Amino acid sequence: MKPGSIGTDTDHAIEVLRNGGVIGFPTETVYGLAAAASNSVAVNRIFEIKGRPRNHPLIVHLNSLTEARHWSADWSASAEILGALFWPGPLTVIVTKALNVHQEVTGGLETVALRVPNHAVALEVLRGLEGGIAAPSANKFGKVSPTTAEHVLADLGSEVDYILDGGPCSIGLESTIVDCSANTIQILRPGGISHELISQVLPVAEQVTGPSRASGMLDSHYAPICRLTVVANVNEAQSLLETQAANQQARIIDGSSDPTLFATQMYSQLRQCDDDGIDQAIVVLPSPNGIGHAIRDRLLKAAHGAQSQSH
Ligand code: AMP
Ligand code: MG
Repeated sequence: MKPGSIGTDTDHAIEVLRNGGVIGFPTETVYGLAAAASNSVAVNRIFEIKGRPRNHPLIVHLNSLTEARHWSADWSASAEILGALFWPGPLTVIVTKALNVHQEVTGGLETVALRVPNHAVALEVLRGLEGGIAAPSANKFGKVSPTTAEHVLADLGSEVDYILDGGPCSIGLESTIVDCSANTIQILRPGGISHELISQVLPVAEQVTGPSRASGMLDSHYAPICRLTVVANVNEAQSLLETQAANQQARIIDGSSDPTLFATQMYSQLRQCDDDGIDQAIVVLPSPNGIGHAIRDRLLKAAHGAQSQSH
């Protein structure tokens, strides 16, 4: 198949991965840019396609908790608890890597990030491949993550060997990342599995949410550039909209009324603002609990123009 082809053929996707190809890969969080984790040449291509620095580690997707244990030289009790409770699901554990895990995958670190995705198509591919799939989000470094196969096609269509369409992502935000490699368990990135849920089973530090209002560029690479302003409530959004200059196109996006639903649509809505030539997106933040925490994390970082969250 020629680059840019898109479809629902899981057997073909497995074949492409086996032959060292790179594919758009559906998961419940966001679409991944996937290669067989055992093939360092293929993993290197992920970095080339994304334009991502090579010292940024990738997440290895696996079929089961049993398989995940083999990827660590020191599988920790906390990783076992989290894997047993939340896999398959939107949670990534960081553990000491096994000897044979390629350094291309870990960005040269002695730890590796592992996750079992909760997506039937992803699991079918993982079962067929019989190995780990290394995959960061399938967007260019610095752009928003893709949550549909069409997003991947628009961003990377000509550069990947196949895009496996598994429908729109049911969570829509990147996974929660928990560092289980040290004695103190730390949430490095909030996501679909909330701090509240994790802290019911393990002692973890509270996350910092940042200021309630921030303004800035979505990202210097996110073109055409839509300015992102986050506000605390709908009234604030309305009064901001009313102060817009006549030649400015602004749009209010309400993330506060149904955060779980909003999470599934957030990246699409931001892309839509760009497609529609909107100058400023005014986003009403959800309250900082449950998935609201992860939404605020992504939006506050984007509003600050931070690169760190958008890779
Ligand atoms: P993405 O695949 O774009 O969702 O990004 C993967 C995230 O996992 C990045 O924020 C990485 O920094 C993080 N990550 C992956 N492996 C490790 C690791 N071994 N230690 C710390 N962070 C990691
Ligand atoms: Mg990413």
